[in-house]
Amino acid sequence: MFSLHGTPLGGGIVIGRARKLASQLRDVQRYRIAPDAVEQEVVRLETALARISLSLEELLDSLPGDAPAEARPLIEIEQMLLADPMLIDTARSAIRDHYWNAEWAFASNAQVLAEQFDQFEDEYLRERSRDVRQLAEKVLKALAQDRGQAKKSVREGAEPLIFVAEDIAPADMLSLKNAIGFALDLGGTTSHSAILARSMNVPAVVGLHHASDLIQDEDWLVLDGDEGVLIVAPDETILQQYRHRQAAGALETEKLKRLIHVAAVTLDGHEIRLLANIEMPEEAAPAAAAGAQGVGLFRSEFLFMNRRELPDEDEQFEAYRKAVQAMGDHHVTVRTLDIGADKALETQPAVVPPNPALGLRAIRYSLSQPDMFLAQLRAMLRASAYGHLQILVPMISHLREITETRRYLELAKAQLRAEGTPFDEGIALGGMIEIPAAALMIDAFLKKLDFVSIGTNDLIQYTLAIDRTDREVASLYDPIHPAVLRLIASTIQAGKRVGKPVSVCGEMAGDPHLTRLLIGMGLTEFSMHPASLLRVKQEVLLADVGQLAAPVRKILSADDPDKVHQLFDRLARVGSGAA
Ligand code: PEP
Ligand code: MG
Repeated sequence: MFSLHGTPLGGGIVIGRARKLASQLRDVQRYRIAPDAVEQEVVRLETALARISLSLEELLDSLPGDAPAEARPLIEIEQMLLADPMLIDTARSAIRDHYWNAEWAFASNAQVLAEQFDQFEDEYLRERSRDVRQLAEKVLKALAQDRGQAKKSVREGAEPLIFVAEDIAPADMLSLKNAIGFALDLGGTTSHSAILARSMNVPAVVGLHHASDLIQDEDWLVLDGDEGVLIVAPDETILQQYRHRQAAGALETEKLKRLIHVAAVTLDGHEIRLLANIEMPEEAAPAAAAGAQGVGLFRSEFLFMNRRELPDEDEQFEAYRKAVQAMGDHHVTVRTLDIGADKALETQPAVVPPNPALGLRAIRYSLSQPDMFLAQLRAMLRASAYGHLQILVPMISHLREITETRRYLELAKAQLRAEGTPFDEGIALGGMIEIPAAALMIDAFLKKLDFVSIGTNDLIQYTLAIDRTDREVASLYDPIHPAVLRLIASTIQAGKRVGKPVSVCGEMAGDPHLTRLLIGMGLTEFSMHPASLLRVKQEVLLADVGQLAAPVRKILSADDPDKVHQLFDRLARVGSGAA
């Protein structure tokens, strides 16, 4: 028995047999072909590409209605890459001009492109090298198939299995109908495979380094997607422990489901609004079904990412309208483009700015692209006629950004009025508080905004000067650092003073360990990934605002981060009789 540790992607615990997916890229055949066989070799490559294209089409056509919202766009990215002339034409020339066999011609070019992506400082762009390598794997597999040399097929069998591989492409993940878990050597929580695994809610761990070398087919595995642990050939004691934890987890999930229709009210009668963060319009309906009382954050940039042609006004309008209609009487808060740093556009130049997190991003980017910004505001306004839509502006740091946004909003309204297009005249405009400057200027900002939402992910990054994507400093990323807590608390209080809504939409809102602390600060609106809603609701139901107020005041007045952590630990026991 031995165990490996990686990065957890969630999904709970699973126990099952291993199935390795062999990498074709590890030993690519390399030989020269006879000049008169060149055209035949090009046809071999094109046939392999056509076969992959067909299988992706089939996969798209057969996607069930309840497939994760990310599935379709991720397959479309694979299709886009498959048609990339940079890759295909260079491979064709390698066959025609240098007489390389199709395998080597494609794989070596893909490797060069992947290595270029590897050089990027930006994590998102670096992860794109995975997409290229995954495609090369597929092409090699298809080329091997035409010679009957393919290694084990990924679709094989119906037995539930934990798939172990260096990496797996999103489309392959979807075709592995019998997958009960994924254990991948490669890391990265922002890779497309990681995004898909998370939304499939299948236990998954990435960054396991040499797992695919160390594990044999048919090995028994325990995969803990919550803790990032993979135990190989577990003994009976370990198996029993994990079976017990697995059963307890399943019971907990079942119990939590009973809370879907229970109102989120604290023990002393304070109503708390629990909202959803979504990235695609298709996520709105499932979020409402999971008990969300609205969308507190629709990250509109996901409509713009991973594509060459950006969505026009009509496409955006349809997307926002879909989300608004799915939420019925509840609000949908659509954020204007938050592009830059960890979220790049395909159409942006590949040159990474010296400090992307401090660069031309979010509202700064929107204001530098007036046509694009106006189109987005018009699309939002048009969708507002179909329900309750409000607009949220990311990364504001300066009053002028609000004034300018209002100016564009008024211009968009005037255009629509002149066209006779209906929209909500009283549409609310809010701002994200995620830069310390905004938290410090909150009173002035609130005069010009209808509501605010605290983006704790960036607020922590900018307050503590900790890059949220840099693993080297991840241990210093402290949501309950006194400086962060004071900025959050003062923002909440400022909203209360003027009677304007304040929500938190960063990851802190979805962490049930922090629910009491935020409630104790006076927060009444939490927006989070829908998967966290019920756990947070459970905490709300057990919280007593009256009892939490004094210990939270004490936390807020402590200067020493260690002291804050001590006091925070005690908060978990407030009201349980053990404080
Ligand atoms: C945040 O910064 O907390 C936030 C919600 O925005 P994002 O994570 O999209 O930057
Ligand atoms: Mg942010």
